[in-house]
Amino acid sequence: MDKKRVYYFGNKQADGNGKMKNLLGGKGAGLAEMNLVGIPVPPGFTITTDVCTEYYTMGKDKVVELIKKDVVEGIHRIENVMNTKFGSDENPCLVSVRSGARVSMPGMMDTVLNLGLNDVAVLGLVKKTGNERFAWDSYRRFIQMYADVVLGMKPDNKDDIHPFEEIIDEIKKEKNIDEDINLSVDDLKELVVRFKKVVKDKLNKEFPQDPWDQLWGAVMAVFDSWNNERAVYYRRMNKIPDEWGTAVSVMAMVFGNMGDTSGTGVAFTRNAATGENVFNGEYLINAQGEDVVAGIRTPQQITKAGSIEWAKLHNISEEERQKKYPSLEEYMPEVYKDLFDVQEKLENHFRDMQDLEFTIQEGKLWLLQTRTGKRTGAAMVKIAMDILDEGKIDEKEALMRIEPNKLDELLHPVFDKEAIKSAQTLVKGLPASPGAATGQVVFFADEAVEWAQQGKSVILVRIETSPEDLAGMDSAKGILTARGGMTSHAAVVARGMGKCCITGAGGMNINYKTRQIEVDGKTIKEGDWISINGSTGEVYEGKIKTINPELSGYFGRIMELSDKFAKLDVRTNADTPKDAQVARDFGAKGIGLCRTEHMFFDDERIIAVREMILSDDEAGRRAALDKLLPMQRGDFEGIFEAMHDLPVTVRLLDPPLHEFLPHEDENQKEMADEMGISLEKVKEKVEALSELNPMLGHRGCRLGNTYPEITEMQTRAIIEAALNLKKKGINAKPEIMVPLTGTKEEMKLQEKIVRDTAQKVFEEYGDTIDYLVGTMIEIPRAALTADEIAKHAEFFSFGTNDLTQMTFGYSRDDAGKFLPVYLDKGILKNDPFEVLDQTGVGQLVEMGTRKGRQTKPNLKVGICGEHGGEPSSIEFCHKVGMNYVSCSPFRVPIARVSAAIANIKYAQETVNV
Ligand code: PEP
Ligand code: MG
Repeated sequence: MDKKRVYYFGNKQADGNGKMKNLLGGKGAGLAEMNLVGIPVPPGFTITTDVCTEYYTMGKDKVVELIKKDVVEGIHRIENVMNTKFGSDENPCLVSVRSGARVSMPGMMDTVLNLGLNDVAVLGLVKKTGNERFAWDSYRRFIQMYADVVLGMKPDNKDDIHPFEEIIDEIKKEKNIDEDINLSVDDLKELVVRFKKVVKDKLNKEFPQDPWDQLWGAVMAVFDSWNNERAVYYRRMNKIPDEWGTAVSVMAMVFGNMGDTSGTGVAFTRNAATGENVFNGEYLINAQGEDVVAGIRTPQQITKAGSIEWAKLHNISEEERQKKYPSLEEYMPEVYKDLFDVQEKLENHFRDMQDLEFTIQEGKLWLLQTRTGKRTGAAMVKIAMDILDEGKIDEKEALMRIEPNKLDELLHPVFDKEAIKSAQTLVKGLPASPGAATGQVVFFADEAVEWAQQGKSVILVRIETSPEDLAGMDSAKGILTARGGMTSHAAVVARGMGKCCITGAGGMNINYKTRQIEVDGKTIKEGDWISINGSTGEVYEGKIKTINPELSGYFGRIMELSDKFAKLDVRTNADTPKDAQVARDFGAKGIGLCRTEHMFFDDERIIAVREMILSDDEAGRRAALDKLLPMQRGDFEGIFEAMHDLPVTVRLLDPPLHEFLPHEDENQKEMADEMGISLEKVKEKVEALSELNPMLGHRGCRLGNTYPEITEMQTRAIIEAALNLKKKGINAKPEIMVPLTGTKEEMKLQEKIVRDTAQKVFEEYGDTIDYLVGTMIEIPRAALTADEIAKHAEFFSFGTNDLTQMTFGYSRDDAGKFLPVYLDKGILKNDPFEVLDQTGVGQLVEMGTRKGRQTKPNLKVGICGEHGGEPSSIEFCHKVGMNYVSCSPFRVPIARVSAAIANIKYAQETVNV
């Protein structure tokens, strides 16, 4: 049988179900499942994501051929359930055509509403509803939307006026009308005439009257919108594969704009910003779908409690609130009750916070969508733990609900309590996405990107945002809008990005032309500093100091759970006692990489380092190293003390020596004076040390093998530090790591120097400590010959920064010149320096681990390249059987959760095989 491409739903039946997100998209799967649970959903059908892929490979004609019969059947089913007919002048069938990928991409792709309206059907709609205004308003909206989305009539330039907006303004002027709502039926009819004319003039063809033509145009436009600029950008940002494609759901229209007993809204079963278990949301009376999300009208609250709180925030009296902005609970108690029951049913069914879209048509509630609600990092943690406590999910599932990278938001700064006391509040808006941000005001998204590229901190200030602003929102430190509610585009997108955001700060008067904000008699200009608190909705003048947040409560519980399930240990890359302490507080189980060279750059030490480098013979080098010894020993004492009882991997000197020498004339002169040698001598040495490919040159263990005295000094400093601490009762556990090994002979020689030196120190002290000697695996040859190298190493640590560099042959320092293009063109899916290339570099990691353990079954294996803090790479490290990952201090919590998730997932996969 041919594969199924179209799935019907309606009348509490469905071909698909909620688990089929990959094929039906999140929206299609949710619609199917809602039918199965018995929730009122308008009937319709979903064209699968596979068809989108077929569209991109075979083209429109072939795809229409493949699905035509089923789509026609789908429309007939809608007609039957709703008792309507496509194009009828009595009872027209109208549908919406919506996109829906596997994971939600809010507002990124296109939607067409009211499809099926034409010059005849509009009369049918008048007859059916007895509401002429509504019918003609729907028709003019449809022409606008269809022309924008399907016929490509949106202006390309941000400064161009939209042709339809121009016409609306024209008519308003002619009739002396302020607001759209005051347009009469005749005005709306006139709009339709002029809209159609502008389509004809621009495109040289009539606006399509045949509903079937309209439908095919819309379906293909939705497929096309998978590849529009903002969708592509969103996918890059969220690492969503291009080949997934979007499904298309076609469903019967229900109308929220049929008068005062109709409306539309968006609701969340819990608070998406804080995670609190309170039903909340916003609605608009007499409005259609997109009005709430677009943030054009300020919506009202669904619950009475929410409405009271909202009024307080906006300084609106209780009397005015009840009169002008009543909650749905007060305005339509029956519908509210239905909605409340539905949300309860859906949350219990999906066992997670849901984001719902609904429409009320003449007092009847219809659900148009349910999906797992986007949430902030704080809400993510709270909701997972609350649902666990409610007994609806188990500990493993609670952990699987955590997106590790989102924890980052919880580690981010808030305003300093003292600094905020003296701050001047400019205006207040809605606390749409929490956190604190301070930056310079910018009004346009493209400029936000430019300014951020110049290293500036910016706050993007807009009247409202649209999906076109995505890149600018991404570049900004925070987002502030004058209009829109908690579910406006800006709010939803910012929360998804984990970015601080305030919406609906209506006290601001934004003028894009003069690039100024007028607020409370003050003028804020482009480039002025402001600070915003997305947790309270407050906007302040000027810069405000920020501080790091506290980590306890729910966050602490997630961390505890992670440790219960993770097999991989998480260590940190740290070179100072302070960083070591931060990481330890975050739960690091040791240091996986202490880069000793960072200690050499200190003002005082650099002189001794240079002295060593400039020496012509071993005796001179030893004399300089003797000066460095006490300093290094002191450093190690500090780090070992901070990390007492936990292992600390200290890497021997790694970078090419020229990095320590001055290259500018002025600095060279200074150095010559300091060292009492001639400028010529300095220049000569710098010249002699310069290399064409320093990253492939005299560095890593090549230094320790050509100048063994460096390894000796560093080993002595490490062992002496540990012994000194032992005297104080502090247990140091050093692991000495040789960098950039490529052959077993290199490692053999280094191991011998380390062991001989340690032995000497033990004899001098008359005491010993336990220590390990191991190596980094960061040269492909080391991975290939890991069985031999393991004979001389007690542990391996994969330096995947260098291993990636050498496997791809991409210079770490220069890859920035071509990687963005490679990512753009899809030559690479990810930046391999960020996300471990499992296909290529991964083979070396797997082989290195396997071969190493062939020689030493208990060989300790870890990773200390940047990938050690990246969730998908951590999952790979788990699968390979590593003992630990090591990452920067602030990524330790992310790595702990990732390690637990990796173990849970892997165990499930292994059972399923
Ligand atoms: C590595 O190469 O992965 C590594 C951790 O070392 P560095 O980044 O210092 O070269
Ligand atoms: Mg390296």
